[in-house]
Amino acid sequence: MSYLSWFKNHSKKHQEIVKKVATFELIEYFRWENISKTDIDFCPLFAQNRKCHDISNLNCYLCACPNFRFDDSAKSLKSWCSIDSKDGAKIEHEGIIHQDCSKCTIPHDEGYIKKHFDSSWLKIMKKCHS
Ligand code: SF4
Repeated sequence: MSYLSWFKNHSKKHQEIVKKVATFELIEYFRWENISKTDIDFCPLFAQNRKCHDISNLNCYLCACPNFRFDDSAKSLKSWCSIDSKDGAKIEHEGIIHQDCSKCTIPHDEGYIKKHFDSSWLKIMKKCHS
């Protein structure tokens, strides 16, 4: 093996490890117990020491949710769930329907976050609106 091939190969392996550790730390950072203290302006509930879902392992990295869809210009159906989650529901108010995610915890699970991870939140959420 030449110096150069070792060098290039090692660089790839190194990059993979750096990527993995950084991702893990970023996800940990977004755990409610941490981010609700470090970035109080990230969510209006943090100032009230509240969570959107009463679960112990709440992670905020994928709030809102990559499965959420919305259309501000629609007349009646303003938002919906693209996977029709069994824990999702609809709320209707004055003829306008919105998606109710209050009982669905899919995007707050760290396994789900790792599976759909990208450092760009916008990229993960790109299908939420057209
Ligand atoms: S119901 Fe669940 S999966 Fe569907 S958009 Fe809401 S949080 Fe996401």
